Amino acid sequence: MEAHRTRVLERETMMDTVNTDVLILGGGLAGLSAAYHLGTCDWRLIEAESTVGGLARTDVVDGFSFDWTGHWFHARDPQMRARIEQEWLPGNLVTVERRAIIYSQNVVTRFPYQINMHGLPPETVSQCVLGFMEANFGEGGRALRDRPPANSAEFALRHLGRGICERFLFPYNTKLFTVPPEELSAEWGGRFVPRPSLTQVVRGALGLEDDGAGYNATFWYPREGGIESLPRALASRLNKNCVHTGRRVTAIDPARREVRLDDGASIHYRSLISTLPLKRLCELWSAPTDALRAAAEKLRSVSVTTVELGVRGSPKRSFHWCYFPESTLPFYRAGSPSQVHTSLAPQGTHSFAVEFSHRGPVDGASLVRQAIEGLAANGFLEAKEVVLARSRTIPTAYVLFDQAYAEARKTVLDAAARAGIALAGRYGLWEYSSMEDALLTGRTAALNILSSRAA
Ligand SMILES: Cc1cc2nc3c(=O)[nH]c(=O)nc-3n(C[C@H](O)[C@H](O)[C@H](O)COP(=O)(O)OP(=O)(O)OC[C@H]3O[C@@H](n4cnc5c(N)ncnc54)[C@H](O)[C@@H]3O)c2cc1C
Repeated sequence: MEAHRTRVLERETMMDTVNTDVLILGGGLAGLSAAYHLGTCDWRLIEAESTVGGLARTDVVDGFSFDWTGHWFHARDPQMRARIEQEWLPGNLVTVERRAIIYSQNVVTRFPYQINMHGLPPETVSQCVLGFMEANFGEGGRALRDRPPANSAEFALRHLGRGICERFLFPYNTKLFTVPPEELSAEWGGRFVPRPSLTQVVRGALGLEDDGAGYNATFWYPREGGIESLPRALASRLNKNCVHTGRRVTAIDPARREVRLDDGASIHYRSLISTLPLKRLCELWSAPTDALRAAAEKLRSVSVTTVELGVRGSPKRSFHWCYFPESTLPFYRAGSPSQVHTSLAPQGTHSFAVEFSHRGPVDGASLVRQAIEGLAANGFLEAKEVVLARSRTIPTAYVLFDQAYAEARKTVLDAAARAGIALAGRYGLWEYSSMEDALLTGRTAALNILSSRAA
């Protein structure tokens, strides 16, 4: 019976036109979660790559395992937590206590900067603490306190003060987003700039221990298989015949409820869930309106190239990931996967994943050189001990919350809703969000469809 069913489906996939009840575009965590939560409903999932997982993937090279840059798992939704812990990855999760550091002015401090300034040059600490007080309580901060901030720079200056902004926040975010903080919206600042109390700032400046609460103090990581074990576990619970990898969507015609693929096939659907990057969705949209096209053009993002390094010997500094705010170093962050879990590097070695942000193409070999030189010059490794070095680019990594973001995104989201397209995932919804959010938004999209059918 099973063999017969498989043959029928194989034949069907080669046909020009297929009908399905629910069509899911993209096989990252959001798409897989949507498929999982649709259960026995008639669904198909289309993934361009040869394997599912999207960004939650792990490559093994010469005994080193590299996620597509460090992926540390936080889950806050109780149902999702239980599902991951008990059903998808039972016995394969370790809880890791976060060691996040900052390397600034040749000194290592703990993350986040604003509540851990002890150890920085006294002049910097004084500038940051006094700046914080001035912004929040002094006359000098009054102007910004009395009106809404115009952009993320003003938001940060208003809440953190000039010292913390100029020493950490501005240079770090300029490297990460490739644009100055004045180009990012005040709304972005409100969502992503943590605002400590004066007590936290002063205690951190004096080196008094604090609880670090609210800053993701622990995270989960798979004991085996890297982060890819999560999408693998999910995919193993799906009907394989409905998951089509290596097939790329080339056109979406919402009016005809039809999607076309690069192999010439057409799929007609009743409901569509898209997890493709929102900008890409618009590019694939047949006959978009002028308003949709104009809004899509305004959606901007940055790419990230990660340089993966395998190094002989023990790590010289203890950390899971380290932030590099200063513009003298071209990368914004480096993770050390082998320090998160020893299984990620062969015995007697350790590893780094060094992240560079950019818009437009880059020369991978040059970034490899810059990563090794930068880390070596600052005592993180010895260049002669590097045994593996390669680079990988994520074309759409961080969406830019610039001044045009909110309106342009809303225009596209409204158009998708009118066209009956459900959106899910970090890039499908064009936002900054985590793996858990991808799983949750995939689940929501699926459950909404199921409940609309039941109504
Ligand atoms: C640098 C970086 C670090 C991160 N670190 C963390 C972390 O530590 N913890 C955490 O929780 N989250 C982290 N994230 C976020 C996390 O990676 C994402 O939230 C999550 O993986 C997004 O899943 P998704 O399914 O929404 O998107 P994706 O994983 O991007 O999946 C979309 C899928 O669509 C497919 N696709 C695209 N175009 C087409 C097409 N035309 N036809 C068919 N298929 C197509 C793609 O191949 C892809 O598989 C990080 C992200 C980045 C960029």
